[in-house]
Amino acid sequence: MNPVKRRKIQELAEKIYGNLQLRIPIDAKAVAQGIGGTVSETETDLPEEIDAKIDKEGESFKITINANRPNTRNNFSIAHELGHLFLHMGYLVNPERWKSVNKYTDSVYYRFGHGEEELEANEFAAAFLMPENKYKKAVKEFTKNGFCQILELAKYFDVSQEAALNRGRWLGIFSWE
Ligand SMILES: [Zn+2]
Repeated sequence: MNPVKRRKIQELAEKIYGNLQLRIPIDAKAVAQGIGGTVSETETDLPEEIDAKIDKEGESFKITINANRPNTRNNFSIAHELGHLFLHMGYLVNPERWKSVNKYTDSVYYRFGHGEEELEANEFAAAFLMPENKYKKAVKEFTKNGFCQILELAKYFDVSQEAALNRGRWLGIFSWE
């Protein structure tokens, strides 16, 4: 992803974070509901390998998440779908695009292509759940004897350890080794 796009996604995430006056940890489900959407869990309506999907419903939207996933993963999945909602469907940020969208199929359903939209949705989810300045502060707080306690960091943001670690990698704080 090019740096301009990444910065735009970052700015959008921060704008929404500020507008809704959110606090850490961010409850993506509550956010989705707070902006007029619904979130439902299913054990049968999603293929086993799919984490979540998003559908336009009238003037609003519905996010469906897989019930057989840990809460932390679902939090990230909902934030990922919110990324599609704002970036690719235009909800609240691009009225023309929103009007033109009839159906959005999350590209994880496709075997090929649309990889860029997946990356963008993941970038949004990470930036939204773990805002850069808050993340850097938290890393400092949870670093003891030169070692950052990823478990504590993940708990603080209510994300998986993998998501917490990857955020730091993309921000250049942790190495990829
Ligand atoms: Zn997606």
